[in-house]
Amino acid sequence: MKNERIYLSSPYMDYVAVSQVTEWINQQKQSPIALSLLELEKKINLYLGKEKYSLALNSGTSAVHLALIMLGIKPNDEVLCQSNTFSASSNPIKYLNAKPVFIDSEPNTWNICPNVLEDAIKDRIVKTGKKPKAIIPVHIYGMPYQVKDISLVAEKYEIPVIEDAAEALGSMYKGEKCGTFGDYSVLSFNTNKIVTTYGGGMLISNNLDNYKRALYLSTQAKENQIYYSHKEVGYNFRMNKIAGSIGCVQMNKIDDRLEDRRGIFNFYKNIFSRYNYITIQEEPSVDFYSNHWLSCILIGKNKEDKTSEGLRLALEKENIESRPLWKPMHTQPVYKNELYYGGSIAESLFQKGLCLPSGSNLSSNEKDRITRTITKYLDS
Ligand SMILES: *Cc1c(COP(=O)(O)O)cnc(C)c1O
Repeated sequence: MKNERIYLSSPYMDYVAVSQVTEWINQQKQSPIALSLLELEKKINLYLGKEKYSLALNSGTSAVHLALIMLGIKPNDEVLCQSNTFSASSNPIKYLNAKPVFIDSEPNTWNICPNVLEDAIKDRIVKTGKKPKAIIPVHIYGMPYQVKDISLVAEKYEIPVIEDAAEALGSMYKGEKCGTFGDYSVLSFNTNKIVTTYGGGMLISNNLDNYKRALYLSTQAKENQIYYSHKEVGYNFRMNKIAGSIGCVQMNKIDDRLEDRRGIFNFYKNIFSRYNYITIQEEPSVDFYSNHWLSCILIGKNKEDKTSEGLRLALEKENIESRPLWKPMHTQPVYKNELYYGGSIAESLFQKGLCLPSGSNLSSNEKDRITRTITKYLDS
């Protein structure tokens, strides 16, 4: 009999949680008001621990899209975006017919490089006479980007930041939560994320006026009239109540989920410590605290000719899912005509890297299977 498949990051939902979600749904059955959404927003605001205004949306992608709209991004505006990311960070730039300008990573966090970012800004100003309109840095796999350095560049050139914290709920930089560092910040509750609503996201802003305007735009831009009256083009981006209910229940357990993911990271760190050609994506200093949404490794050059693709195939043979790191956006066919600044760091991460099964519900049996498969491949 074939072993059951171990997934990269399967959603966590136990029986208790399911019954709590049912209670929430019952409570809201008759009400036209989305109580669960307001409650989830309150929970996130409290969790982030700063004066922030979270708006529950149907996806993280919609949150990036709406952030760009809130910043008034127009066709042909340039938007700087980390290249080492998932396409959801950059696709909304194209939805608005604006132009992504992709930026390379730095090796410590694998995220957007502050020096390349500043060089790119200077060069765009020289070449176009205009500043780029926004910066989208990403906390990839939950690892905070160089928040201080990126914020300094953004402030120096007065360019707003859309912080893509989709993968980083619970991560911290200098003791402050990711999701609080942007003019707008984005969370995702996609099925594979650390907290899931089986599809959903949050747009986080700094004041109540922005929250109200984003709410208005995300609910079809209805004017306050008895009949349907619209002065602007609106969007259908609001989260649904059932997703909100799931989110409320999930947020009660965020501390446990963090502990799970960070435990899984330590499990891998322990396995790989014997191999000096393998590095794990690790916090570069005490300023960084990753939720370790996914545990990821790089397999460097070695005498034994072990590769990330070799390890991936060995795991796959045992019905264990693993995946290469994000393929940098500037190397994607769909973005082949876009601008890129930097060297080959993001590309070399892609060539050497592998994301390992990191679901919060990984059992000790599954961990044993993973350990055996990895050591068998590396020691053979
Ligand atoms: C998951 C994710 C998003 C948002 O994705 P949705 O599936 O639309 O919620 C955005 N950016 C990154 C880096 C992500 O991983």
